[in-house]
Amino acid sequence: MKIFIISSGEYGSKIVNGIASQGFAANIVGIHEFPSKDEVPEFIDDISEYIPENIPEADLIIATGIHGDINMVIPAIIEKSGAKSVIVPTNHPKQIPIGLQNEIKSSLNDDVAILFPKPFCSLLPIGDKYIDEFAKVLGKPKFKIEANDEINSIEVIRGTPCGSSPFIAENLVGISTKDAEFEANNKLHNFPCSASMASDNNTGDTILHLATYKTKEAIKRAIGFTYKSAIVDEEVCEGLEECDNICLNSCPNVLTGDETIYLDDNGKAKIDPGSCGVCEICIKECPYGAIEIYEEKMPVNKDND
Ligand code: SF4
Ligand code: SF4
Repeated sequence: MKIFIISSGEYGSKIVNGIASQGFAANIVGIHEFPSKDEVPEFIDDISEYIPENIPEADLIIATGIHGDINMVIPAIIEKSGAKSVIVPTNHPKQIPIGLQNEIKSSLNDDVAILFPKPFCSLLPIGDKYIDEFAKVLGKPKFKIEANDEINSIEVIRGTPCGSSPFIAENLVGISTKDAEFEANNKLHNFPCSASMASDNNTGDTILHLATYKTKEAIKRAIGFTYKSAIVDEEVCEGLEECDNICLNSCPNVLTGDETIYLDDNGKAKIDPGSCGVCEICIKECPYGAIEIYEEKMPVNKDND
């Protein structure tokens, strides 16, 4: 698989390093660095001056850290490289608004698969040859953990593209299983995760928080339990017709494609403790007060693909 990366700024460089150091160095056929967001106009009338002169033949394009209208180079890069698979991760709410994503998508042929994972560490295989080849190795983190009361060994099965998961794995050995997900959260902050702390209107949360939910989920699923999650009281939940399932429609994980809140056969909400990030947004939104935080050991489904 031949990967061409277009990148900008500190975040872009971090992702380039993470991809190269975690198994894809030999696959990278070119890297084009764009000026940082402060050096290009927010609105660009003529994108042609920004299209790189040397675009290699490629299978997969990764556009990382590129803000605003300059993303409109992507269709030209796809055409010149011959690539049919594209990943444009979002690490800042203003990086590539949905209107711009739709504009890019509408200019592409039907045989091009393009994804805008928010954040990059939410990426999972989707049934596209090259995106899946990448997402088998890098994307939503996945660990294998051997543990008794504390973690004895931890192996990265799928790493985060920024490189945080090997760092987290190295630093969790010896930590009690009860504290592991919260320590993983701390380690991700220490790495540091460079996703934005600005509020994202589309999810009601920050993209940094979304990243921490993915890392905590990976630890919970590898261990098989958690000690903290939002839960729904099914006696109090009115479900479907009464509330339009506002909890489901406001959960940041659901809004980025996860099934953290789902409906049972009666239209009542259920919460998956494996992926709940305990942001408490659903608690504030539920008009019936049906959701609360539960802090006892509870089992977690081990699958996360
Ligand atoms: S938990 Fe609250 S918001 Fe969610 S479906 Fe039940 S009543 Fe509606
Ligand atoms: S607390 Fe509620 S809104 Fe937040 S992640 Fe958990 S289920 Fe979703």
